[in-house]
Amino acid sequence: MATTPRLDPADLLAVGELLTDEERLIRDTVRKFTDDRIRPHIADWFERGVFPVRELAPELGRLGVLGMHLDGYGCTGSTAVEYGVACMELEAADSGLRSFVSVQGSLAMRSIHAFGSEEQKQQWLPGLAAGRAIGCFGLTEPDFGSDPANMRTRARRRGDDWVLDGSKMWITNGSVADVAVVWAQTADGVRGFLVPRGTPGFTATDIHGKLSLRASVTSELALDGVVLPADAVLPGARGLRAPLSSLGEARYGILWGTVGAARDCYTAALDYAKSRIQFDRPIAAFQLTQEKLVEMVLELEKAYLVALRIGRLKDEGRSLPAHISFGKLNNVRTALEIARSARTVLGANGITTAYPVLRHANNLESVLTYEGTSEIHTLVLGEAVTGESAYR
Ligand SMILES: Cc1cc2nc3c(=O)[nH]c(=O)nc-3n(C[C@H](O)[C@H](O)[C@H](O)COP(=O)(O)OP(=O)(O)OC[C@H]3O[C@@H](n4cnc5c(N)ncnc54)[C@H](O)[C@@H]3O)c2cc1C
Repeated sequence: MATTPRLDPADLLAVGELLTDEERLIRDTVRKFTDDRIRPHIADWFERGVFPVRELAPELGRLGVLGMHLDGYGCTGSTAVEYGVACMELEAADSGLRSFVSVQGSLAMRSIHAFGSEEQKQQWLPGLAAGRAIGCFGLTEPDFGSDPANMRTRARRRGDDWVLDGSKMWITNGSVADVAVVWAQTADGVRGFLVPRGTPGFTATDIHGKLSLRASVTSELALDGVVLPADAVLPGARGLRAPLSSLGEARYGILWGTVGAARDCYTAALDYAKSRIQFDRPIAAFQLTQEKLVEMVLELEKAYLVALRIGRLKDEGRSLPAHISFGKLNNVRTALEIARSARTVLGANGITTAYPVLRHANNLESVLTYEGTSEIHTLVLGEAVTGESAYR
């Protein structure tokens, strides 16, 4: 006898049923980790502006999410969708947590994995995968964000050595990193360098006063006559395409992660609406509240489908940069709208850290900007559909 299908209000279209058993297992394992280790503390970390990175990194390493989509060197070798569902659960807890994992795995580790020498891979990747070491990725500069081609950081040859001068801005994990992947102009175009912590002339200073991604370390890097040996350069990285390809991997994590943040806001609003009584009724009984919740779940499920579609294309080796821009633009924007709408359902309680919605909304303001702003992804898609570049 056929059973009557049951609706899950948090996944109305049952998109989760499109995941494989292995993908669901990873989703549930990461969700349990965040329930146990992150959710009880995240409001406090956000309020105090801290992220206990040294404590959490080895735990995330044991969870298998650091560089999980890379092969070998202690990495899990997961599929794109498996990596995606992990990002979804990490960001459902906090965008700062997913940012840490993205920067470590998709930016720092992926750059070493794709462009490093065998010695560089052996030296850094196993420790980074285990969370014994922390990495960062320095591309943005104080004067060049969307337009990194004009970066001022320079690397000059001096005998066999390299000498780096310049600065990098808004660098996630900067002051806690054991190794910084720093991108600099050379006589042969942009190249990537591995700068170990403590190298003379290299300093990292944290950026304070953030109202967004407070549970995440963001730093400014200064390079003042930093002397590096010849083997500090990533041999396989030539030109700006190299860092941009790593950024594509990190953006892919974002298009999944933001589905998690959106889901967390929607479910917080739904729970609250069912228990909050005004005018002798739960506010969930008012048509205007129902309209907000329905708009949220419609957009949430569409974003989930977008992420899954792009993930499947990626696993088939068919995803293009325009697909990633599509997902990043749509899903961050959607998550932000859901977070803001959820905030209104919670009334005054919505502005506190007792509920996750404004924390997520504030975090998503950074996510909207980093890894290519919404404007830049609009222009990438504009070029994809018209064949005309509006920004080059
Ligand atoms: C919390 C946080 C963490 C970050 N972590 C890292 C990191 O780990 N590593 C790293 O390298 N960077 C990092 N970044 C930097 C991030 O990638 C940049 O902020 C981003 O690329 C935008 O650069 P910008 O802030 O300089 O803005 P700008 O490039 O100055 O842009 C300002 C505005 O102008 C718009 N604009 C620019 N050019 C155009 C155009 N051609 N057409 C239309 N509009 C345009 C932008 O869309 C934006 O709205 C981080 C940023 C934040 C906030």
